[in-house]
Amino acid sequence: MNVTIIGCGIAGMVTACYLQKEGYQVTVLEKNGQPGGRARQFSDAGFQFDMGPSWYWMPDVFEAFFADFGKKTTDYYQLVRLDPSYQIYFEGRSVKIPAGEDALCALFEQIEPGAGKQLKKFLSAAKAKYELGMHRFASKPSLHLKEFISFQTLASVGKLQLFTSMEALVNKYFCHPVLRQIMQFPVIFLGAMPKHIPGMYSLMNYADTNLGTWYPLGGMYKIVEAIFELATSLGVTFRFGEDVQKISVAGSLAKYVHTTTQVYETDLVVGAGDYHYMEQLLPAASRQYSQSYWSSRQLAPSCLLYYVGIDKRLPLQHHSLFFDSSFQDHAHALYDHPRWPENPLFYVCAPSVTDPGVAPAGCENLFLLIPVAAGITGDNEALRDRYFQKVLQRLEQATGVSIADHIVYKKSYGISNFTADYHAYKGNAYGLSNTLRQTAFGKPRIKSKKITNLIFAGQLTVPGPGLPPAFLSGKMAAAEVMKQSHLLTKSFQTRKYHTA
Ligand SMILES: Cc1cc2nc3c(=O)[nH]c(=O)nc-3n(C[C@H](O)[C@H](O)[C@H](O)COP(=O)(O)OP(=O)(O)OC[C@H]3O[C@@H](n4cnc5c(N)ncnc54)[C@H](O)[C@@H]3O)c2cc1C
Repeated sequence: MNVTIIGCGIAGMVTACYLQKEGYQVTVLEKNGQPGGRARQFSDAGFQFDMGPSWYWMPDVFEAFFADFGKKTTDYYQLVRLDPSYQIYFEGRSVKIPAGEDALCALFEQIEPGAGKQLKKFLSAAKAKYELGMHRFASKPSLHLKEFISFQTLASVGKLQLFTSMEALVNKYFCHPVLRQIMQFPVIFLGAMPKHIPGMYSLMNYADTNLGTWYPLGGMYKIVEAIFELATSLGVTFRFGEDVQKISVAGSLAKYVHTTTQVYETDLVVGAGDYHYMEQLLPAASRQYSQSYWSSRQLAPSCLLYYVGIDKRLPLQHHSLFFDSSFQDHAHALYDHPRWPENPLFYVCAPSVTDPGVAPAGCENLFLLIPVAAGITGDNEALRDRYFQKVLQRLEQATGVSIADHIVYKKSYGISNFTADYHAYKGNAYGLSNTLRQTAFGKPRIKSKKITNLIFAGQLTVPGPGLPPAFLSGKMAAAEVMKQSHLLTKSFQTRKYHTA
């Protein structure tokens, strides 16, 4: 049977690997000229920039994927654990977050007596959530309630603290505002305020502290190259520069996938590009979700990014978070009244601190990220420049060195680029917010209700945004394709039998 996968991001490539291994003939169609999707990379003026992800968390998930193919990550790249994991700049002080539980407990104890012990308790509960959340819940396609109905699963639901917010959970353990912010930081990845994120996601604190922050030497794109190499060795066919424009259907079956240059006849389709756009490729009657459904969804923030080359080294850690302005004000502009933020929080990644190979000798490679509400208008060069000046000034203040006069390369990337490059709904960067209402059954379905041989993968369906979820998504999508193809073969054989 042949399977056509639309989109060569991590989720699409992972799906392709599992299916090709099982004997399907897989073709991946990608509109852009290289694999990786949001995790792409570009090089210019001697700098090598990872365009999207920079945090390598949950190394066990990456390892489990390669192990399914008899491989290890070390067959493709070398990981280093960062210590400190990252630095957070608050108003008037900064804190380096050391790697590992014991070192972090000691730091907490210094800031608030008794907080070290509290952190141990918090992380022990977070570990249980990680094991349940990542190993049991996140790998369920969430199509039927019965997936979750086992004694073990039901008995463990209470431990997940689904109905306690992250904010309430953290506040119960810690009093100092700095500690509260440190513990709530990982929630930023989930695209909603801590008061709207279920306590289950303290599993991210366990991932952060206990499993560690890692970096693959050569850049995050090494992950993409590794999966691409594996997929190619398995026999997956890739076609780049092919923008899918239409999926034509006959009854409840997808039949042909039309790109700008070709038409592909197909037995099964996996929509591994942005879910909203994948549905727009179908005739209106074959779509499951209306425009009003999509506009009622809460999207995680998009972002305004700058890829910057500096002609000297800077006193920075690999990851730096600038929480030196009001989180409440920024969150208000992200979620409550979407608009451009006054004084945004921002994030800086300097991979050249760990890996000098990503910049010319003696230079620094910077990636600056400002979260902005998805779908807001007015994204233009002048505005991007204003924001750049704002964050640059704060960066200079925090590091105590001049940077502006040392910029030798700069490129910005924002909402309009996400839309143009990925067909991203409202220019989203990370898909939907992981609120309780948008978790598991609350996500767009992995399998179409209307088109029997259409499965979805990627960050807008289960389990959600991020690299580790993209691996889980690809594996689940492949399993659904296999189930569907068995059903299709059976019904085809039954039809043949009745006709004969
Ligand atoms: C700025 C940024 C920072 C991030 N930071 C982190 C991080 O530090 N750590 C982490 O774990 N995660 C991070 N993420 C999230 C992570 O990168 C994504 O969740 C993940 O890469 C999504 O993979 P995907 O395969 O679902 O989608 P994508 O990567 O978007 O892949 C979808 C692919 O489909 C293609 N496509 C779409 N429509 C069509 C069409 N019609 N025809 C052909 N092709 C099509 C697109 O071009 C794209 O290549 C970040 C994301 C961004 C944007």
